[in-house]
Amino acid sequence: MSVLTIALSKGRIFDETLPLLAAADIVPAHDAQGSRKLILETNRAGVRIVLVRATDVPTYVQYGGADLGIAGKDVLSEHGGEGLYQPLDLGIARCRMMVAVRAGFDYDAALRRGARIKVATKYLAAAREHFAAKGMHVDLIKLYGSMELAPLVGLADAIVDLVSTGSTLAANHLVAVEEVASISARLVVNQAALKLKHDVLQPLLAAIERAAGKAAPVRPRGRGGKRFRS
Ligand code: ATP
Ligand code: MG
Repeated sequence: MSVLTIALSKGRIFDETLPLLAAADIVPAHDAQGSRKLILETNRAGVRIVLVRATDVPTYVQYGGADLGIAGKDVLSEHGGEGLYQPLDLGIARCRMMVAVRAGFDYDAALRRGARIKVATKYLAAAREHFAAKGMHVDLIKLYGSMELAPLVGLADAIVDLVSTGSTLAANHLVAVEEVASISARLVVNQAALKLKHDVLQPLLAAIERAAGKAAPVRPRGRGGKRFRS
């Protein structure tokens, strides 16, 4: 029997995915959050979960280290989507990718002047595409976290970051000025696994889709599957 491996990241993706997996009759055999285990067996003999960094989920799935995985659109657009089939938007882990500036920084005036602004972000691909589409010239500065700090110490004029409640921005005297993308978590499948493990994958995808309450079509055998655009 072939084993099906599902890549998840700890935290909100894991928490919000558990009910969807439960609806597909997949339940981790032990508590994940407290454990240091990286491989979780489940109630189903042929199904296991691997815990990886959120940004590594697409890489595991692309190269077959996992057959399927769940990752935010933010992560997928940076990865580029190569080797991945994306059948489902699960509608979980929702937030918005926004441009934010220091309170008092006149973003619109900078735009009107055609000023070249410095933008700090961990989302280089998404930011590059966003500002290019607006015809803006920006200097992008790659950071790996705590983007909110950059405008406060003069490293950048603006940041591109994920925002849900806005309280982190507010606590750092930043204001969101523009949406780059609306973000949610997507299920991605390794393209080879989609064919080779179709019999196990198909019912699982269907059950997850039902549980996610989404109408997005699952067309695992077809060629018309959505590929990401970064
Ligand atoms: P770490 O926080 O450990 O550095 P990470 O930021 O990659 O890692 P999470 O914070 O768990 O991991 O985020 C995982 C995914 O959840 C993100 O890729 C994004 O899609 C989504 N996400 C991130 N921040 C929020 C948020 N504030 N609200 C809702 N969803 C979010
Ligand atoms: Mg985080």
